[in-house]
Amino acid sequence: MKITFLGSGGGRFSAISQRRMTGGFRIDNLAGKNYHVDPGPGALIRTYQFGFDPRNLSGVFVSHAHTDHYNDAEILIEAMTRGMTKNLGTIIGSESVLEGFERWGPAISSYHQSKPDTMVLKPGESHNFNNIEIKGTATSHGDPTGVGFQIDYNGFKLSYTSDTGYFDELVEYHKGADILIASVLRPGNRTINGHMCSRNFIDLIEEVKPQVAVMTHLGLKMISSNPVTEAKKISKRTGVKTIAAYDGLSFNVNYNNPKRFRLISLKDVQSSVHSTSHSMYESERKNSYQMAFKNNEFDELSILKRQ
Ligand SMILES: [Zn+2]
Repeated sequence: MKITFLGSGGGRFSAISQRRMTGGFRIDNLAGKNYHVDPGPGALIRTYQFGFDPRNLSGVFVSHAHTDHYNDAEILIEAMTRGMTKNLGTIIGSESVLEGFERWGPAISSYHQSKPDTMVLKPGESHNFNNIEIKGTATSHGDPTGVGFQIDYNGFKLSYTSDTGYFDELVEYHKGADILIASVLRPGNRTINGHMCSRNFIDLIEEVKPQVAVMTHLGLKMISSNPVTEAKKISKRTGVKTIAAYDGLSFNVNYNNPKRFRLISLKDVQSSVHSTSHSMYESERKNSYQMAFKNNEFDELSILKRQ
């Protein structure tokens, strides 16, 4: 099994500004199948950018009806079903995502739900499919039906909190996790309603005692205060190997000894056709400057001259 972060940013401002990518993460080769978890804005593009193919997905998981988690779900579903021509794959999601709940969702149209199987995941409920068991885990978040998961594959447990504030029962849902992936929006003690900060993550890690903890879905305040340093502090405090996700972070899970793995930084294989290409960015910028000069649209320059 390989876990790859197609983005480590989260929260609306990280997503709007794209200070970090927001494509969610992929779990590849889990009992021979591939899954995309919480495909936020850019998930499709990031898939190709880091050398993956969305057509080999067997499932798309969407934890709740917030844009930074569901934005690219429908296009990935189209990829999974060969452009909605085949009954392939499964959409796993919260009640709000699949059916709609109060003012939340549905985040995936009934058209897009018509070809794959659908599975509403609720906290505490388990389902068997594709040779894994998936259990819904509770959240305390804006979307009241938001759900995380714990996947059990032959006794190996992978937990994902999704967006949630810290609450005592959260520990019970994630107990036994070998790998714990969590949305940790803010650094230090700077908690806000419905989200965890580093302090909350420390509490969760100390109770759950996973082999490895990964923090992702990093908000602007976290990104600005060096997530790597933050993760080191958490590791030291808890004694549990804790990693701050970054865009393109990938690692193969060692089932026998999850603590032993090598982090891989994925190359941006498609950089020549994406805007992250610096030469393209430069030439694009040059063009727009030239265009601006032509049209006398250079406010900043004229203001500078006047001073
Ligand atoms: Zn959210």
